[in-house]
Amino acid sequence: MSETIFSKIIRKEIPADIVYEDDLALAFKDINPQAPVHILVIPKKTIVQLATAESDDHAVLGHLLLTAKRVAEEAGLSNGYRVVINNGADGGQTVDHLHLHILGGRSLQWPPG
Ligand code: 5GP
Repeated sequence: MSETIFSKIIRKEIPADIVYEDDLALAFKDINPQAPVHILVIPKKTIVQLATAESDDHAVLGHLLLTAKRVAEEAGLSNGYRVVINNGADGGQTVDHLHLHILGGRSLQWPPG
């Protein structure tokens, strides 16, 4: 149930364009970018979605945000960027492994669709 394409990317069983990795997190380019820069930041621990995260996950959740900041800086997004978490069906989540989208490199519209 918890096995997703992202589990395979974490285990390097399928290729991904990895831009950052440490013990807790992995960041890689989205295969279907919606902006000039579109990077996903995921926990190595399987957390299905934000809604299923638990209080024990507070450190990894904080780490994901700080990783997003680091990755955005390294991608040169000094003019701004957006961090998005799609949660569940109505949120548009298609991969059941928590991920932060970092979108940048162009002016983004608000509100999203
Ligand atoms: P969601 O719609 O769940 O918020 O976002 C899932 C994202 O994962 C999508 O933007 C999609 O393009 C990306 N994605 C799905 N499969 C793969 C894959 O195999 N490799 C990479 N790099 N991205 C993927």
